[in-house]
Formats: sequence, structure tokens, C-alpha cells
Amino acid sequence: MKYDIIIIGAGPGGIFSAYELVKENRGLKVAVFETGHSLDKRHCPIDGDKIKSCINCKSCSIMSGFGGAGAFSDGKYNITNDFGGTLYEYIGKKEAINLMKYVDDINMAYGGEGTKLYSTAGTKFKKVCLQNKLNLLDASVRHLGTDINFIVLENIYAELKDKVEFHFDTPVRSIEVIDGGYKIITDKDSYECEKCIVSVGRSGSKWMETVCNELDIPTKSNRVDIGVRVELPAVIFSHLTDELYESKIVYRTEQFEDKVRTFCMNPHGIVVNENTNGIVTVNGHSYEGEDKQTENTNFALLVAKHFSEPFKDSNGYGESIARLSNMLGGGVIVQRFGDLVRGRRSNQKRIEEGLVTPTLNATPGDLSLVLPKRILDGIIEMIYALDKIAPGTANDDTLLYGVEVKFYNMEVELDEHLESRYKGLYIIGDGSGVTHSLSHASASGVYVARNILESIN
Ligand SMILES: Cc1cc2nc3c(=O)[nH]c(=O)nc-3n(C[C@H](O)[C@H](O)[C@H](O)COP(=O)(O)OP(=O)(O)OC[C@H]3O[C@@H](n4cnc5c(N)ncnc54)[C@H](O)[C@@H]3O)c2cc1C
Repeated sequence: MKYDIIIIGAGPGGIFSAYELVKENRGLKVAVFETGHSLDKRHCPIDGDKIKSCINCKSCSIMSGFGGAGAFSDGKYNITNDFGGTLYEYIGKKEAINLMKYVDDINMAYGGEGTKLYSTAGTKFKKVCLQNKLNLLDASVRHLGTDINFIVLENIYAELKDKVEFHFDTPVRSIEVIDGGYKIITDKDSYECEKCIVSVGRSGSKWMETVCNELDIPTKSNRVDIGVRVELPAVIFSHLTDELYESKIVYRTEQFEDKVRTFCMNPHGIVVNENTNGIVTVNGHSYEGEDKQTENTNFALLVAKHFSEPFKDSNGYGESIARLSNMLGGGVIVQRFGDLVRGRRSNQKRIEEGLVTPTLNATPGDLSLVLPKRILDGIIEMIYALDKIAPGTANDDTLLYGVEVKFYNMEVELDEHLESRYKGLYIIGDGSGVTHSLSHASASGVYVARNILESIN
């Protein structure tokens, strides 16, 4: 079984590579191998009723399958070089933005039309933030919402399914370098190709590491972001979210001069569990459809940690903290801000009496027993800073869920074509450590596909 191009992983990176490769019907034989299920079979068993928390499915439907980690996400495509990855360092700032805009055009053509594009350009909040020692980053944000994001994926799959061979529920176990290309080995068979695009995302991070070790591809350790998800009444942030939808705000703490930042803001959204390699952490999303919206807004407050010498395993550090919270809470812990600053654990009664109704069924507990002091102090400082631009943020009843951890893959050594030291072996998306967002991962897919098309012209 021989293909011109094999793509490993059907997340945004893999999907947009496939889309661009077959767009012009040049007769290329393209196959996609994916650990998870097809989109219609992706289903997380947590129903809040019979199954309340993660049961560690063999393949996690939240993280794996057609659409990748982005399938049930909030579908926020941030068009910016300020965050979401460092693609611009490889391909240039202008090209990166152009590709993100191209991805946005495709999303609009496949069902996203009518969704809002928010922008920080010219907003009055920039000044208000600066006056309060907060830095509002520049970005345009297309908010598809979980529901429309899913429809766009369905439509793109319908477009691709007859032009690309999809192999779902088929994890790739290893890649071998052979004469004139690569051999891709799965549990049942092996397949050959001239060029291979690896786009395995965060869930494929451990596998990616093994591949790099086996093929002697150099890597660098990346950072890990650790923090909490904040949930509060939507009205407290509505002046910001109505105009900007998502505001990426950075605060430099007075105590340690650490940077704490807001991340993944979900107006009227819900807080959700996330399972990475068996560890349950917290995340959030929101829907575009009003019927599914809640009274709350949630966002993460994160602190970046990067270890290099002698301890290099930034992700391992994040995992240990997440494991500790799983050990104490059986999963995610929730605590009222008022309880945290008073140094006491939250309990069910105090949460129920509070003004904020939690959207995730988490265990009331004490985050100060889980998060390192330096990180926790930074988060508390930032909550008070945010309280100045959005009064009410530091209310006693504001809920903090922990822990939220953003794992970043180690950075793979790649050239300006996102090609590894092997000709024709490309590594893209979050799996490469170069991107950490929907728009950057998708753009990296288009970029590599265009490079391949040029090289075989
Ligand atoms: C709940 C949630 C909400 C999010 N919300 C947003 C958001 O609003 N905006 C944003 O920009 N980003 C968001 N993100 C992050 C975003 O989803 C990722 O940055 C993006 O999906 C990365 O795309 P990717 O293609 O690189 O990797 P992924 O989407 O992770 O896809 C990789 C795919 O490869 C498959 N795979 C892994 N290993 C193998 C193997 N050995 N063989 C075959 N297949 C393999 C996996 O099953 C997976 O389907 C969110 C993430 C989560 C989990």
C-alpha cells in the first residue's frame, strides 16, 4: 500500500494539510491515519448523571478523532502572532497572518459564515488595562462556538472523504526511513509513502518524543503553563466580552515579577474536564447558540514555567501538580476565592450558598494544598488586578477550578519549511511544539501542503 503523502493525525493541522493537498485534484494519493474515531462516533461518556467523571477511555473522544483536540473546543480562531504559537519564527509574520486568514476563509465557506470576528484594534480597553498594570494583547478572534465548529468539521469531512483515504481507529506505532520515503507501521499493516506529515497534537506528545529519539531528531524542552480556571457571573466581564469576546491580558506580579495571563475566555460558557494521558485537568468552552449559553463566564489564569538545567521535564512538573489535585479531589477541585484567601477549604454547603452556580461538577477543596505558593500568589495578585477593570472579579463567590495545565510538546528541530532533518518528513501543529492553537496549527498544515505541492511541480 503506497501513497504519495501520508498524514498522521486528523486534527486541524492534518485536516488543513489534506484539504490543501487535494484541493486542486492533482491526482495525489493521500492517506490520513488517526488514533481516534470518525467525527460521528466521537462521544465523551461523561453525562453528568450515570457517568460523572472521566473513565479513561482507550481513545479520548475529547482529544482524539477527526477534528483533533479542537473538535469540541470553543472554536476560537485567534488571528495573531502575539500568542498561539511561534509559527512566524519559521515562516515570517506576514505569511503566518495570511495563512491564518486563508484558514478563516475556508471555515467561513464550510459553515462558519455569519459568525463574529472580534478585534482589539482601536479598543478603549487597551488604555484602561495599561492604567491598571495589565497588558491587553492584540488579536482578531473568530468565534465559531462549539456547535458551529462541529458543523464546519462535518462539512470539511464531507468534502474530503472521497478524495483522501481516512484510516480511523488506527494509531501509527512507528515511522521507518526507507529508500525514497517512509514506512508507516500500524498494529495491522504497514504503508509506504514518499512524504509524511506528522501532526499528532498534544495527545501524541509522548509518541512524538519516541519517534524523535528513534530517528535521532533533535528536540528542545518547552514550557508548561499551570494555573486555575476562574468562573464568575457573565455580567462582571460583559463590557469586555461583548466588545472583544476574548481578551488576552498579561499581568506582571509585584512580588516575583512573574507573568500571569488570561487564557481561553468563554463568555456564557461551561467549565469542562480534560484528560491528557490519564490526568484530569480543567478547561472551558462556550456555544454560539443562545439556548446552550449559561449565566457564567470562565477563563484560565496561567503562569508559565520552563525548566532547563539540571531538571528539563517541564511537562513532568505540570503532570505532578495535576496528579496531586487528582489525588486530593479524585479529579478537578473547586474552591471559592473567599475561602482561598481565608486559608480554608471550600465545602459543598458554601459553594451551594454562593452566588455563582458551578457549571462543572468538581470536588470542593483547597487549591493551596496543590499549587506551589509562587504560582498561587501570582494568581491571587492578578485576580485583584482584574478586579480594577472588572469589579467583582475578586468577590468571595468567584469560583476557581484547579488545576488547569497547558502542556506544550517539546520543540522539534525543523527548518523554514517545517521539514525535519529527513527530506520529506514534516512535523507540524501542536505536536511539533511550534504551534499551540487552532489557527496556528491549521496554518502550519496549509503551509506544508503548499511546500509539498511546489516541490513536486
Ligand atoms: C477542550 C479544548 C478546547 C480548546 N479550545 C481552543 C480554542 O478555542 N482555540 C484555540 O486556538 N485552541 C483551542 N484548543 C487547542 C486546540 O484544539 C489545539 O491547539 C489544536 O487542536 C491543535 O491541532 P493539531 O492538529 O496540532 O493537534 P490535535 O488537534 O491534537 O490533533 C492531533 C490528532 O492526532 C491524533 N494522533 C496522536 N497520535 C497519533 C498516532 N500515533 N497515530 C495516529 N494519530 C495520532 C490524535 O488522536 C489527534 O486527533 C482547545 C483544546 C481543548 C482540548
